[in-house]
Amino acid sequence: MYEYDAIVVGAGLSGLRVAIELAEHYEVAVLSKVHPLRSHSVAAQGGINAAMSENDSWESHAFDTVKGSDYLADQDVVEVLTKNAPLAVIENERWGTAFSRTEDGKIAQRPFGGAAFPRTCYAADRTGHNLLHTTYEQALRHGVQFFDEWFVTSLVRQGDRIGGVTALDIATGAIHGFAARAVVIATGGFGRVYGHSTNALINTGDGCAIALRAGVPLKDMEFVQFHPTTLYGSSILITEGARGEGGYLLNKDNERFMKRYAPDKMELAPRDIVARAIRTEVLEGRGFEGQYVHLDLRHLGAEKIKERLPGIREICMHFAGIDPIEEPIPVLPGQHYSMGGIDCNVHGETVLKGLYAVGEAACMSVHGANRLGGNSLLETLVFGRLVGQAVSKYLEAAPKPQAAPVDEAAFTVRQDLQHLLMHDRGETPAQLREIMQHVMDEMVGVFRTKKELETALREIRVVKKRFVNVSLGRSDERFNYALVRTLELRNMLDLAESIILGALSREESRGAHWRLDFPHRDDERFLKHTLITKTDDTFSVSYKDVNLGKFEVKERSY
Ligand SMILES: Cc1cc2nc3c(=O)[nH]c(=O)nc-3n(C[C@H](O)[C@H](O)[C@H](O)COP(=O)(O)OP(=O)(O)OC[C@H]3O[C@@H](n4cnc5c(N)ncnc54)[C@H](O)[C@@H]3O)c2cc1C
Repeated sequence: MYEYDAIVVGAGLSGLRVAIELAEHYEVAVLSKVHPLRSHSVAAQGGINAAMSENDSWESHAFDTVKGSDYLADQDVVEVLTKNAPLAVIENERWGTAFSRTEDGKIAQRPFGGAAFPRTCYAADRTGHNLLHTTYEQALRHGVQFFDEWFVTSLVRQGDRIGGVTALDIATGAIHGFAARAVVIATGGFGRVYGHSTNALINTGDGCAIALRAGVPLKDMEFVQFHPTTLYGSSILITEGARGEGGYLLNKDNERFMKRYAPDKMELAPRDIVARAIRTEVLEGRGFEGQYVHLDLRHLGAEKIKERLPGIREICMHFAGIDPIEEPIPVLPGQHYSMGGIDCNVHGETVLKGLYAVGEAACMSVHGANRLGGNSLLETLVFGRLVGQAVSKYLEAAPKPQAAPVDEAAFTVRQDLQHLLMHDRGETPAQLREIMQHVMDEMVGVFRTKKELETALREIRVVKKRFVNVSLGRSDERFNYALVRTLELRNMLDLAESIILGALSREESRGAHWRLDFPHRDDERFLKHTLITKTDDTFSVSYKDVNLGKFEVKERSY
């Protein structure tokens, strides 16, 4: 058994930033199922928001975020995010991130959807790549200990507090216990519950699922962000930066259709609105091949495309065989971000003492019903630092965990995995994953109805029953990725059920959750956060108040 003051699960930007903070004073280990530099933060393209220009202010950033969230964000959390934004960007810049620059040497900022000012700082269209490399270097410099390619399988409770985690060492197949006084979950989003997703295959929401199983509620799971522009055919993200640089959306009649949906903001309306607009154009017969619309960058000119959007150009050339300098890009909406996650407060604290959550795995809730582009990288760095500080404070008086419950938990997990490995006949995890993803794509997408959601719930529950007979096909202990994918699938099935239950119960339309049978926002009944709790095998839904503040709840128009 290993023993640390704190364990951080996840080595994306949020996990690394927490670990840097803790490593100053405590023994901290970061466990990650992939090498830290393969964490999904590396794929972030468009940029990170901060009110840095003379005319901009944190209040304006906060207002845009609250309005963008369709008033479901907790305003106290938004205030912390936006006030700390410039500090987060400058800190990372001083650590070594090479941001793109203006002519006079300042950090360049581009406009993003739903923002009153161009406030998205960027490093061409590879912002996440640059930030993650810099932050990883700092974590190494601070002496953080890494367990790369270790898959965390469960949380260990010790009465009303956390006692540690269990983890599979993917290289050897051995299960180990980690005793810790505090555990921080930073495992990112769960986009792979869907088939059409911009997320990496590793974004399976393991941290959310193990928290749910340990009795910690998940919050606002029905709010799944569908990014308006993913590449037709492969679902690869075409950053909002492309519209920020001036790209147009066109239907098959060559019309800039956004004028019907958001006449003031046009292509720079928030994502939920643009995604619905594209879906509506396609459903009403104005899409190409009945499937997609065009994102046209040609008028920006070759120089600008090469300088500001080099990665996007490469993606288009490699994955669609087109050069956006000469041809428009075929795009359609796809799953992109998980607004919901582990229920926690502004310090990352959950209902289980010593268990914290941060980044996309957490729901603090800073994005409410719809996240603005550029606010998520910001969330990882701002709250990475602040949650790290909160954990440090907690550790000052937190008691040492007992070893026995950690050992027992490791023993139980070993038995469970042995059982899975011994099934040599049955359905493959890939078959079941495909069914789950198809159900989510088709029935829990941009537009939803009671009938479809009820069918989706039934079908996911059938898949869960079939999972009992899943067969891995190989039983090697070392580097058994079939086993890892199976554990991920088990986690995702619980999250799929949580998303559908939240969506069925929320009889209104708000932000990214759009019910065709309840097409209006209903503040009287639903200006609330949804909580999903799992006890044994039963899921239950309850609600909790939104923290309102200085921004009055209003109808949203752009
Ligand atoms: C294509 C794309 C582009 C984006 N562009 C932008 C952008 O321009 N601006 C912006 O603000 N946001 C953007 N986002 C969103 C943003 O990148 C993410 O929300 C953010 O990076 C999440 O960081 P994180 O630290 O929470 O998680 P991740 O970076 O996803 O890291 C999760 C970590 O958890 C580990 N992990 C997961 N499960 C386990 C387990 N069972 N055991 C051990 N370890 C585990 C993984 O190995 C990984 O290290 C983008 C998202 C996508 C998909």
